[in-house]
Amino acid sequence: MKIIHDPNEFQTLCRSLRAAGKSTALVPTMGFLHAGHLSLMDEADRLADVSIATIFVNPTQFGPNEDLDSYPRALEQDARLAEEHGIDFLFAPKPDAMYHPDHGTWIEVPELAKGLCGASRPTHFRGVCTVVAKLFLLVDPTYAIFGQKDWQQLAILRRMTRDLMFPVQIVGMPIVREEDGLALSSRNVNLSVDERQQAPNIQAGLQILQDKVKRGEKNADTLLDALAVYYKDMVPAAEIDYLELIHPNSLEKLSQIDDTTLIAVALKMSRARLIDNFLLEV
Ligand code: AMP
Repeated sequence: MKIIHDPNEFQTLCRSLRAAGKSTALVPTMGFLHAGHLSLMDEADRLADVSIATIFVNPTQFGPNEDLDSYPRALEQDARLAEEHGIDFLFAPKPDAMYHPDHGTWIEVPELAKGLCGASRPTHFRGVCTVVAKLFLLVDPTYAIFGQKDWQQLAILRRMTRDLMFPVQIVGMPIVREEDGLALSSRNVNLSVDERQQAPNIQAGLQILQDKVKRGEKNADTLLDALAVYYKDMVPAAEIDYLELIHPNSLEKLSQIDDTTLIAVALKMSRARLIDNFLLEV
């Protein structure tokens, strides 16, 4: 596996791969890799001739009071893991190689970015879209692979790709979890012992909600009120950011459970904000 830091060198390399007729799969990450990221890399390896991963803690997707400086980083270990999971090229640029000091061009999908995580992180998805669009322009990948853990991000990137006619197939991969059900996240290292013990109840709450739906409950308010009570009891260390029942593509709030309904939640612990979601079976 070759590690590249310079965007121009990376773009030249990717162009030569495409000119040689190779299909490429891109896995964008912020590093501190865990089994969730690695599942995306395995899929890249399976899908395309050449697998490309990026590790870039993208400053523009962090708000002013967020954890940009303390975001966990481990490039050496990440490089070893990426290589073990079939990555051929790893792009790890420095922030000033990706953004000029007077960077002033942004990609936004405001309709999908205003709710859920966007409500408390108003510039987050603008940063995500802009950096992913830049990566698409550097790589021109055949496939780009993202996790369903960040469901809103995936929906926004699908819309951006469609609207801007990027010739890339977006692939969404299932959430990888700890054995106790906690969705893997690079930020889980910031949980206290108590918070870590309570955190699996986030997914347990989603399962309980699924059971209620299977037993016939369809009213969103009734379901979400019950979930809020459960979390207050079982995840007392957390402050609820949002609990929502939404359409999985439009991300619009639903008042009644529909044939395709996603439950999406975000809870704030002292040093980590945890998100999870689940596509309900009706
Ligand atoms: P991040 O490094 O947090 O920006 O994540 C990079 C990619 O990995 C995104 O597409 C995430 O959705 C995906 N990802 C993060 N956590 C998980 C997980 N637990 N399961 C599957 N994919 C994940």
